[in-house]
Amino acid sequence: MNAFNIGASLIEKINSGVLVVDESFNITFFNKFMESHCLLKSKDVLTKNLFDVFNDLPEKWLKRKIQSVFMLNTPGFSSWEQRQFVFKMRHARPVTTSSEYMAQNITFLPILADESGSEVEQVCILVEDVTDVCFYQEKLKETLEQLEVVSRTDGLTQVANRRFWEERFEVELETANRYKHPLSLILFDLDKFKQINDTYGHQGGDLVLIEITKFIKKKLRQVDLMGRYGGEEFGIILPNTDAEGAFELADRIRTEFAQFPISFGNHKILATISLGVVEYDPSFDSYEDMVTRADIALYQSKASGRNTTSLYRA
Ligand code: GH3
Ligand code: MG
Ligand code: MG
Repeated sequence: MNAFNIGASLIEKINSGVLVVDESFNITFFNKFMESHCLLKSKDVLTKNLFDVFNDLPEKWLKRKIQSVFMLNTPGFSSWEQRQFVFKMRHARPVTTSSEYMAQNITFLPILADESGSEVEQVCILVEDVTDVCFYQEKLKETLEQLEVVSRTDGLTQVANRRFWEERFEVELETANRYKHPLSLILFDLDKFKQINDTYGHQGGDLVLIEITKFIKKKLRQVDLMGRYGGEEFGIILPNTDAEGAFELADRIRTEFAQFPISFGNHKILATISLGVVEYDPSFDSYEDMVTRADIALYQSKASGRNTTSLYRA
């Protein structure tokens, strides 16, 4: 077997598509990979125009790509990241990707009229199946996104953790300050929570924390943000909300939650919360100032018998 025959035989066996076209885009070569993945026979496509054989190709783009190889005598490339596929072939992978079609890297190679010359006679289109790469890339992206969510979420209640909540609070405070929009904060704490733990065990206590956050989340707007500030203490940032609105919401949450029985085994746990509310004032230096003041109001609620809402007044 001479070198040419070895080359031709290898091209038939490689696990990539090889297709050659002349300057009029007529197909002059079509390997086995292309045959089996496009369900076409080489003898039926040879001499035919590429765009007649495949009528769903991105014609304008592909013509320009091929023509530039003819003109410049330099290879061209198209990555699956720019264009997931050029030839619409179903992938035969057991993996599931967002697309049912094979992800492809395409290389356009000039084929010269003769070894020594520079005149490009034909262009070889090499189609590499990169569905696996695409799949792992998608998985990686998904995992990173999940990681991002986990890193800002409280594991027990799924509300924002303290770090993320404080970060957002800082941003909201700057926004309120710049645009002179109102901003309020509700801080709340479970009443006699130690007793709940003592009566129902830590699992019962945990359930109360999960249920109260679920209960409150349903009453908040998309822009509001609840975060776990401490063990059984939570904060709710309310952008574009003044003291009156925040107090009304806080007290509605308080009264409704007090009547919300939480099922725990055979038990129905009734818990209450105490709340402190404060509206942002430009005299505050930072979000910590707001937390301190909400905490003072919360302490007043505790001191006046718990299951109470108090508004901070300077
Ligand atoms: P008060 O009405 O004054 O707030 O009384 P309290 O009993 O709620 O307050 P205290 O600060 O004495 O107790 C808080 C308890 O909350 C103690 C702690 O073990 C419990 N706690 C904190 N975090 C968790 C948690 O994640 N799960 C459970 N089950 N309990 C927690
Ligand atoms: Mg408490
Ligand atoms: Mg507490």
